[in-house]
Amino acid sequence: PYTGPSAEEILRKRQQFLSPAVFHFFKNPLSLVDGKMQYLFDEKGRRYLDAFGGIATVGCGHCHPEVVDAIVNQTKRLQHSTILYLNPAIADFAEALASKFPGDLKVVFFTNSGTEANELALMMARLYTGCNDVIAIRNGYHGNAAATMGATAQSNYKFNVVQTGVHHAQNPEEYRGIFGSDGLKYARDVDEIITYGTHGRVAAFISEAIQGVGGILELAPGYLPAVYNTVRNAGGLCIADEVQSGFARTGSHFWGFEAHGVVPDIVTMAKGIGNGIPLGAVVTTPEIAKVLTQRMYFNTFGGNPVCTAAGLAVLNVIEKEKLQQNALTVGSYLKERLTSLKDKYEIIGDVRGRGLMLGVELVTDRQLKTPAKVETLHLMDQIKEMGVLIGKGGFFGNVFRITPPLCFTKEDADFLVDVMDYSLSKM
Ligand code: PMP
Repeated sequence: PYTGPSAEEILRKRQQFLSPAVFHFFKNPLSLVDGKMQYLFDEKGRRYLDAFGGIATVGCGHCHPEVVDAIVNQTKRLQHSTILYLNPAIADFAEALASKFPGDLKVVFFTNSGTEANELALMMARLYTGCNDVIAIRNGYHGNAAATMGATAQSNYKFNVVQTGVHHAQNPEEYRGIFGSDGLKYARDVDEIITYGTHGRVAAFISEAIQGVGGILELAPGYLPAVYNTVRNAGGLCIADEVQSGFARTGSHFWGFEAHGVVPDIVTMAKGIGNGIPLGAVVTTPEIAKVLTQRMYFNTFGGNPVCTAAGLAVLNVIEKEKLQQNALTVGSYLKERLTSLKDKYEIIGDVRGRGLMLGVELVTDRQLKTPAKVETLHLMDQIKEMGVLIGKGGFFGNVFRITPPLCFTKEDADFLVDVMDYSLSKM
């Protein structure tokens, strides 16, 4: 049993010694001390079903024994920098990761986070094309450093510091988007941005396959193929940000972009790559990768032996335990059950997503789509009290984000929906 400090003590220390910008969702913040697969435990030993491990995209499940063993064994053997020396763990994982990609996407750069991965991807695209202009999608999230904060398109996450060279296209999503689900109309916006907003050439287009922070919004069908075509005609590279949608989460495919029938020039990833270990990566073609030989480029800990040992274990577990298939089966079932809640409760405006990356948008008026912000927070708290953790997102903070570990079962899905149903009935 846990014998450390209480939640109140931790909160007091956090308020005194940690960044005032860190936040928590709940009235009484949870102190989590243990994890096992899809479960989390607080300091009193109370169990919670984790339906939001996706924030770290813990794909295999918390403390999966094979991943833990890989981390512990490599830590005992050697932990060092990625640069200067050869090490088998780094090379083996790079090879295994490259094998998950189509076409020429075969060169891996490791980083420590999703932000770093996207920063690197944007810089490579700018170097490769000699252009500065980048196109991103409104409501997207790509990170919190200079270039990525520029590419991010939600005012909540943008500080008033210089962010140049980015144009933000209409968000091609069905629920609030201005063209409904007409992907080609949204794609024309990208065309017009290039025509009217640049000198006719661009460095890159970057987008998530499903917006995560933005509230689980899928791209309208037909959008990505048309935009990739337009961007490439303007000399630009297409970057897929797979930080949330990658690593089998969407169920139908290993990568989110695959559902759109496109092959990007650069793919970025983090979160799920290491089952919670700080690791990120950029995967691109040998030709594009060459631009980084113009100068010295390195990352001290990006892809160090311990993190890459974890990464390799994660790939093995996803395969061995058929987690992609599970994400598809359980995710489809869960989506169906959530959709049936929509028939029962007016407050549910939309249920969407793919695999185990699902969103439930709450509105106080279905016609006007008025965000039910206060209700969302209240319900999340109630759902937590009944032992289930879900996340929230969307620009207005009115979307439940359901991104559990990929080992989530049908029984877990039933429990989650029953708890949500009960909480909604008590509103
Ligand atoms: N891209 C996407 C799609 C993300 O969701 C996030 C994090 N929420 C990032 C990039 C940034 O990753 P990190 O927090 O690891 O820097």
